[in-house]
Parts: sequence; C-alpha cells; structure tokens
Amino acid sequence: MDLIVVMKSTAADEDVRRVVDRVAQLGLTPHLSKGEYRTIVGAIGDRSPEAQEQFEQLAGVDHVLVITQPYKLASREFHEADTVFEVGGVKVGGPYVNIIAGPCAVEGREVLLDVGRCVKEAGATILRGGAFKPRSSPYAFQGLGREGLELLREAGRALEMPTITEVLDPRDVEMVAEYADILQIGARNMHNYNLLIEAGRTNKPVLIKRGWAASINELLLAAEYVLSKGNHRVMLCERGIRTFADETRFTLDVSAVPVIHERSHLPIFVDPSHAAGKRDLVPPLALAGIAAGAAGAIIEVHSSPGRALCDGPQAVMPDRFRSLMGQIRQISETIGRRLQTPA
Ligand code: PEP
Ligand code: MN
Repeated sequence: MDLIVVMKSTAADEDVRRVVDRVAQLGLTPHLSKGEYRTIVGAIGDRSPEAQEQFEQLAGVDHVLVITQPYKLASREFHEADTVFEVGGVKVGGPYVNIIAGPCAVEGREVLLDVGRCVKEAGATILRGGAFKPRSSPYAFQGLGREGLELLREAGRALEMPTITEVLDPRDVEMVAEYADILQIGARNMHNYNLLIEAGRTNKPVLIKRGWAASINELLLAAEYVLSKGNHRVMLCERGIRTFADETRFTLDVSAVPVIHERSHLPIFVDPSHAAGKRDLVPPLALAGIAAGAAGAIIEVHSSPGRALCDGPQAVMPDRFRSLMGQIRQISETIGRRLQTPA
C-alpha cells in the first residue's frame, strides 16, 4: 500500500525534507508534489502498518492518506490541481486548449511545410508528423525514419512550432528525443512498458494514446510508468476504442474525457481523426471532445489527401480545418477555456 503525506500549508522546507528522508529510510520511494497551497509527499512501496502513524507525528504534517487506486502519481489524490506545463513556449493543460495538427506522416519537405503553414495560420500550436509509422500491413509505407525526423525538426523551427512524433522502439527513444519536442506513444504501444520507461527517462513531454482495447485504469497505469521515472510532463489521448459500431474506424469514447479529468490531474486530449477514419466525421467529434473538457485535439490535415501516403481518407482539408478552428475557439470560450494561439 502506498501513502500520501499531506503537509500543512505552514510547513517549513525542513519539515518536508524530514518527511522525504523518513520515506527513504523506510525503503519506500519518495515523490514530491509542490502545489500552490501545500506540498504532498508520496511514499510508494510496501510499508509497515505503523508507517502511517509515524508520518502523522512528524512536524509540519497535516494528515496521511492511503492511496487506493493502482496508479498513484497520476491520481488526483496525489496532485489535486490540473497539471500545466510548457513545451516550446506553449502552455498545455488546465485552462489551456491546444490543437495539434499536421499530416499523418512526414512525406517530404514541401508537403510538410505546406500543411504546417496552413495549420499554424489556422491556429494550431503544435505540429504533428510521423516518421515511424505503425502500419497494420508490413507492405504499407512505414515512414521516412531519421530523414522524417530531420524534416519535422526543420519544419518546426521554420514555423516556430513545437513538434510531436511517434516513437515505436525503445532503442529509438534517445534519437527521437533529440529531434522532437514531444514523444508520442501510439495506441498499439500503450502496453509496451519498456518503451514507456525509456520515454520516462527523457526530459521531453510524452503523449500516451489509449489502446483501443485498454481501460482507463490501464491508460493511467501507462502514464504511471512514465511518471515513476521522474518525467512529469505527461499528456493522455483518447483516440477511439473498438466497439460493435462499424461505421467509424473506432468509437471515440468521449466519456473518457470527464472520467479521466475526475481521476487524474494529467491533460487529456482527443484524437478524432483516428477514431473517425473519415474526414467529414472529424470536426463534429473534435468539437464533442473539446466540449467535454479535453485539453485539445490531434487532427490530421493534408492539402492533397488523395495523394497522402498514410490515412488520406481521414485527413481534413485546409479550408475545413480553418473553419473548425473557429468553432473550437467558440466552444472553448463557452466552457471557460482558452484556445492557445501560435507564436
Ligand atoms: C498516429 O497518431 O499517427 C497514430 C498512428 O495513432 P494511433 O496510435 O492512435 O493509432
Ligand atoms: Mn494517422
């Protein structure tokens, strides 16, 4: 069982240090969370039955809670306020709404810059583009690899936008982290614990997509892997789950957004593109996700989707993306959120 030691708002740094030392003495792993009003120390690991009482007696301690969920650092109990962080000058989480947009895959310099320019003009703050593509068929386009990473970095710099790209293999994490601002763990890899651990060891934010057959608990446990390695900049993403409904590629589980918001302090995004699989369905699903309180959406955009090497049928065209951004702005304002705009 794991504990959370809640410090009094008046606790001195020295009191916090004493608690952290005691956690370590007990052979438990200490995790510090400094909130605006109070500090919390997580004590993760098997503890003796007396440990709770011992902590309660230390100076500066307000009370001690037992964490009941399987995930700890990802829980609201551990961190009451929404996690908000910055990446490349963009504020993510809490009241901020961000749209991540770009092509499914990095296909070449011109097309990436073209789509990138269009999504930035329309108001997207983060540029997406896959260099390593997890394709259902081994014969489909697998991505440009390192060349794709180079092109994405070049486009990100030219457009002054932070970039996100998927990393498929634990052996590539270090390399991808050199090129991209945010590491994406794909739906197929949500259960790849070695990959999560490697991503947790980097200093780059990590976006974890929910597997299409994964529960919310399992998604939060995937986040826990990254958090437990000391990387606190974690973003979650609902991208559709498999149901009996076969009109769409997957079924966007909109309810996951408020459920996760209740249970976790981590920002939860939606990806209507991979859920819908059809471009006309992407805007309404994006709006539903934002209305439900998502921290943003990931939207695939392409200027000539007929020629796209990956996921053309679900790519939104530039004009529709522009009008969608206007609708997203309106919905965000209605629910008291702020749509972030590019630099
Ligand atoms: C993607 O975002 O490029 C992707 C492959 O998504 P998912 O992992 O959700 O299928
Ligand atoms: Mn795609």
